[in-house]
Amino acid sequence: MRPLLDAQRDVLELVDPLPEERVELAAAADLVLAEPVVARHDLPPFANSAMDGYAVIAADVEDAPVVLPVLEDVAAGSVPTQTVTPGTAIKIMTGAPMPPGADAVVAVENTEPGDGQVRILSGVPVGESVRPAGDDVAAGTVVLEIGETLTPVKLGVCSSLGYGRPLVRRRPRVAILSTGDEIVSPDEVELAPGKIRDANRFTLLGALEEVGAEVLDFGIIGDDAAELRDGFAAAAEAADVVVSSGGVSMGEYDLVKHLLAELGSVDFWKVAMKPAKPFAFGRIAGKPFFGLPGNPVSVAVAFEQFLRPALLHMMGARLLFRPRIRGIIEQDVRTDPQKVVFLRVNATAGRDGVLRAKLSGAQGSNILSALAAADAYAVIPVGDAEVAAGSLVDLEMMRMPANRSWEEVQLD
Ligand code: AMP
Ligand code: MG
Repeated sequence: MRPLLDAQRDVLELVDPLPEERVELAAAADLVLAEPVVARHDLPPFANSAMDGYAVIAADVEDAPVVLPVLEDVAAGSVPTQTVTPGTAIKIMTGAPMPPGADAVVAVENTEPGDGQVRILSGVPVGESVRPAGDDVAAGTVVLEIGETLTPVKLGVCSSLGYGRPLVRRRPRVAILSTGDEIVSPDEVELAPGKIRDANRFTLLGALEEVGAEVLDFGIIGDDAAELRDGFAAAAEAADVVVSSGGVSMGEYDLVKHLLAELGSVDFWKVAMKPAKPFAFGRIAGKPFFGLPGNPVSVAVAFEQFLRPALLHMMGARLLFRPRIRGIIEQDVRTDPQKVVFLRVNATAGRDGVLRAKLSGAQGSNILSALAAADAYAVIPVGDAEVAAGSLVDLEMMRMPANRSWEEVQLD
């Protein structure tokens, strides 16, 4: 059996980052920067008011209340035409440029407007409610680095700094297909005897979209050598990566293995992990090919451990793996000491903020419902045969569980 880490390293070595291209910012979510985002100017570009109020000289309002003549109104988007001289004020809106001469803003709440004048009710220190130029980012600062994924807020940063067409790496196109004579589409209302509905293609579809890949759906192909051969060839032609599920175990109808050996350079690995031990990986027509096992939980685990990091690497991401944090497991579990075991668990933070993990259901590699109920994998390393309740384990978080329902919000 191949150690998991060696297999992960081999997979990453065989995939290369995709070409760089410029894309519209609106289409860049989840893509990875191939250029640094550098502030070409201060942000904000000019000193401006943080409040609706009056721009003043702080020394003038030390002995508030005082009445000051108002020279003009400055709205956001316009520029002041006057200078605040000693004993005067300018009315200013949030985001409007500070007028020359003024060194503070008195919020409108602390004033009483009059005709052409204002009564300032309380004094303010120099700089009060003023956002200096470069307060957020100074010109010349590298704000985002190559290899960072464009999260929603990072898209906002790009836009603020004028990166309307950032340089990123292309979205990987990933062909998916399910194999097996027993597999039918989810639209099949009446299941014929011996048939099951396809789970894997939809697990993969969602997981791929979450990473930011473009999915090409090649559907279901039966255990038929000619059809599989054509399907794999068409998928490899159209996509950057091909992912199949099923047909890689030891059965007589597990044709995928044989076809892959014939069509490309594909290795069959027994990886020292559970689930997802049998796994085929290599190239067909020059494209990376992932032959995942058929069992639905194995598909998800293999996706997480091999495909997701490989796709992120192709997209140019610097960080490839999900975070692992420590948590307390709440029950005794026996595991296989020969393998890295991925237990499906619920990981919830108690009132003390400590994560506690409980098995989310039965641990068979066909039990997709238990994985659906899980937030994390408890990763039990090679060498451990049992894990005692109360011990600390590594939790690989698939997501942080959502918190606080509408009912709870109403009770708060
Ligand atoms: P195989 O690797 O083809 O022997 O498949 C292993 C197990 O996974 C069998 O019980 C299959 O019926 C099941 N399986 C294969 N593909 C799928 C799929 N797309 N959705 C749900 N179960 C599947
Ligand atoms: Mg099969």
